[in-house]
Amino acid sequence: MEGPPLAGRIRAEVADEVRELGGLGLVTVQVGEDPASTIYLRRKHEAAQEAGIASEDRKLPEDVSEGELLALLAELNADDAFDGILVQLPLPPHLDEASVIRAIAPVKDVDGLHPVNAGHLYLGRPTLVPATPLGIMALLADHRIPLEGVEAIVVGRSDIVGKPIAHLLLQANATVTICHSRTADLARHTLEADVLVVAVGSPEIVTADMVKQGSAVVDVAINRTEEGIVGDVAPAASELAAFITPVPGGVGPMTIAMLLRNTVKAARYRRGFLAFPKGWR
Ligand code: NAP
Repeated sequence: MEGPPLAGRIRAEVADEVRELGGLGLVTVQVGEDPASTIYLRRKHEAAQEAGIASEDRKLPEDVSEGELLALLAELNADDAFDGILVQLPLPPHLDEASVIRAIAPVKDVDGLHPVNAGHLYLGRPTLVPATPLGIMALLADHRIPLEGVEAIVVGRSDIVGKPIAHLLLQANATVTICHSRTADLARHTLEADVLVVAVGSPEIVTADMVKQGSAVVDVAINRTEEGIVGDVAPAASELAAFITPVPGGVGPMTIAMLLRNTVKAARYRRGFLAFPKGWR
């Protein structure tokens, strides 16, 4: 399941929608100079600009205070130039990520991490949902992978990948199991998976003998090693799986495409073309 062809189609659709809506803006906030974050942000800005979305990057020094960061977010929340706000994670340890995420207006929260958006997903009425899980669902749909009634195993329970993909799979009527670092026998679970999503960040945590014949495997991880970028799933698993995402070139490009789609959705909410659940702006 290659990411670029589908991501390219979605980005072209987004560009059409941006032309129709006009004047979309995305702003990112980066604290410090983490090199991986800088690369991800550059890709997001290039993609936004190619789709016709005006994008700005606000850089803050590594030692910025939480008060200064929250003040910037209040300013960006109130600024009509921006439909979407994204705070690049992880933040330096002196900043409380939960407080920072709560300070983003839910309607502009294109990463889908604010408790309001996470809560709507949990309740089965998704609003803005994290881009990576949306990209995974789009890839599975594009390859017509059946989800209803199948065993779906998610390895990893982060707020940005594991938990939201588990909810989306549940809403698609899969029977979902979430595994994590305390799971007693990981292979026992992964071997049951018709659909296996792995988001850990540990090369070869899933070896070929942990993969069910004929399954669909989504490898979310981006691990930088001396051999280059690798995923969490051993390459030999591709001999057993019917479908598998490559790393790189699988989920990564989908994440960027879905971030752009979220920015369009946020613009529709803000302009009243889509109703954001009442009580929050
Ligand atoms: P994270 O927040 O570090 O979460 C990792 C998860 O893996 C945790 O839930 C952890 O369990 C679990 N885990 C750790 N060791 C394990 C083990 N031995 N067995 C089973 N589970 C284990 O990571 P993340 O943000 O979700 O990212 C995961 C990977 O995906 C990273 O490589 C990241 O770079 C990549 N990623 C890629 C994209 C993309 O666009 N392709 C987007 C986001 C992330 P506990 O909760 O018990 O600690």
